[in-house]
Amino acid sequence: MGNPSGRWTDAIIGSMKEALFGDAEYSGSDKGPANVAISPIEEVMRDICALGWGAWRDYAFAREPLNGRLDDAQRAELMERARECGEDWARRCERDFDSSSPLEIAERLGAIVTFAERPHGQDRVTFAEFTEPDEIYVYTDAMDKAEALLGAPGVREAAGPRMRPRELLVAHEVFHLIELRNARAIWTQAYRLDIRFGPFHNPSRLVVLGEIAAMSFARTLASLDYSPYVLDVLLTYAYSPAAGTTLYNEVMGYQQHDRNALHDKGDAAAPTTEAGPRNRSPDACLQPSRCREE
Ligand SMILES: [Zn+2]
Repeated sequence: MGNPSGRWTDAIIGSMKEALFGDAEYSGSDKGPANVAISPIEEVMRDICALGWGAWRDYAFAREPLNGRLDDAQRAELMERARECGEDWARRCERDFDSSSPLEIAERLGAIVTFAERPHGQDRVTFAEFTEPDEIYVYTDAMDKAEALLGAPGVREAAGPRMRPRELLVAHEVFHLIELRNARAIWTQAYRLDIRFGPFHNPSRLVVLGEIAAMSFARTLASLDYSPYVLDVLLTYAYSPAAGTTLYNEVMGYQQHDRNALHDKGDAAAPTTEAGPRNRSPDACLQPSRCREE
């Protein structure tokens, strides 16, 4: 299977499919979206826009196929390094192109950005995607629905004026273009998790790192206080309030779980701050020798 058409898998796409249609075990169960008590969108946005960067860790890693090989400390470390990587590349683009506009940066990088109503074919639910070598598609049907939601009372107040779905999605996909162009150097592509099978070692790439870093890249360009992962919930809600509420419940459930874990462990388990325990140089992820696991 893999990625035959050169289209990059996207966390946004994956969660949307899962939330709307469910997987084999999920669909038809009593936890399915059809049976969820729908939360008002203003309440959803107020809660998720108040979450810090690290609060999306479990949500993000739940979409990583190798998540079961990681422990919480590794997830927290990788979440932070991915944030740094995305932020570093955003700063570098701002410097090189003298712009924070994702569309302008895309143009300067030679990307072809297409705004289309919706993807071809009926079997895919997609908000935006990157196709190798340089094409970015943003689907306006989803954007229009999101803009309509943002016009609802209380939603724009929660999201703030910098929540611009089109720009955020273009920025996210621009990061995937940067990953492709810098595949040997960029940390998200170079990082390998060493998975052991008895005496064997299998260095494995984690696909979620590129997704997290793409969110950090978009967040930095937009100067957002919260994570663009908020878009996952907002856009899904725009199509299906039940599916959006399911994602919202998942995200908020992780917060409860983390609080309980913290309580169980007492003071020893200090919350991960955005600054993180390590003081890496701003260009750390631009230097392959420092980014690869030793
Ligand atoms: Zn992506």
